[in-house]
Amino acid sequence: LPARYGAGEKSVWVEYIQLAAEYKPAVNLGQGFPDYHAPDHVTKALANVATGENPLFNQYTRGFGHLRLVQNLAKLYSPLVGKELDPINEILVTNGAYEALFSAILGHVDEGDEVIIIEPFFDCYEFMIKSAGGVPKFIPLKPKPSQDGKEMTSADWVLDEKELASLFGSRTKMLILNTPHNPVGKVFTAQELQTLADLCKKHNVLCISDEVYEWMVYKPHKHIRIATLPGMWERTITIGSAGKTFSVTGWKTGWAYGPADLMRNLQVVHQNCVYTCCTPIQEAVARSLEFELARYDSPECYFFSLAEELVSKRDYLVKILKENGFKPVVPDGGYFVMADWTKLENKIDLSTEPDRNKDYRFTKKFAKEAGILTIPPTAFYSADHRHVGESYTRFCFIKKDENLQLTEKLLKEWN
Ligand code: PMP
Ligand code: GLN
Repeated sequence: LPARYGAGEKSVWVEYIQLAAEYKPAVNLGQGFPDYHAPDHVTKALANVATGENPLFNQYTRGFGHLRLVQNLAKLYSPLVGKELDPINEILVTNGAYEALFSAILGHVDEGDEVIIIEPFFDCYEFMIKSAGGVPKFIPLKPKPSQDGKEMTSADWVLDEKELASLFGSRTKMLILNTPHNPVGKVFTAQELQTLADLCKKHNVLCISDEVYEWMVYKPHKHIRIATLPGMWERTITIGSAGKTFSVTGWKTGWAYGPADLMRNLQVVHQNCVYTCCTPIQEAVARSLEFELARYDSPECYFFSLAEELVSKRDYLVKILKENGFKPVVPDGGYFVMADWTKLENKIDLSTEPDRNKDYRFTKKFAKEAGILTIPPTAFYSADHRHVGESYTRFCFIKKDENLQLTEKLLKEWN
């Protein structure tokens, strides 16, 4: 393995998906995916496309994005970014948000360039930066000291502004932002985004904004696209995911949008590493977007109804976690809850698990004893900062109500 890839440690996803198969937990609240059906019109669109009249929908399509899809993405995002998007030069369709991240990073990061990452972070960022020869610079979101009895929310996890400013310098090429945030659920406020934007402008830094959870934001919080802040469009690449937007994570279709000169660099990576994405899925996503755009002003539009549906699942999970000894961080967005398990430590013998980090030991024991699989958050930290996340575990709540009720039962039995 080339040295720049590090030791090639097992990814948390590979390991925990294998554990799900091995332990057969009664509920899997680990990897983030819904365990129920996507909207009917979405799955029907794919069935119709694959077996419909036009045989070309099962053949290669335009490399930088199927035309009907990029046109609909332009329709969706133009009003949201306050600017008419050019579907041909300003949008790229990718193999999931993963490939959008990959093309954005490989397309811009050169040997020795520094990239600022906010911890905890979606784990692939670090690998992608290193594989481009870049140097990741980490800054943790830190929970404000909790007051007894007061509920902690994702807004209590903040960046130290002085520490943040000290990371920016002449070698800084890029900042990766993720809002709404995985795993904390933080929705960055206008003021927090302004601080980040001011630093990017001052030091001429690009911003990759990973917004795959853009529609999962809980009132009164609002998703703000950093690309809409003054002077930021020209230095921002924004990333989205059809998998997250339509609850079809297995469709692995995503996109990046931004100014043509920056998008050109993503196209170069994409045209040589991927070339084109799955045609029938792109056509189906295009039709699904059209369907939602036609009812955008109605509460039934999936972009808005999904968050309404999720908020009661969030509240229920938070409640049962609190009742059973966890200290959850209430998320303002996304579909994960980070919960502190320190108070349960005396109930569980962690010495039998060999992992170095306590949260890995806890999640494995908890899955075996309680039958509930969750994800250890130290996977989302750089080696030096893992202790910040060790007393937490991550629960995914985009699950059927009956599975959340089963979680309550399992928690009570275990307690
Ligand atoms: N970014 C974040 C923050 C994620 O949680 C995920 C997982 N969905 C991705 C990117 C990758 O998304 P996709 O499944 O579309 O590749
Ligand atoms: N984004 C999802 C999560 O955080 C899935 C990640 C993955 O499968 N690599 O759970």
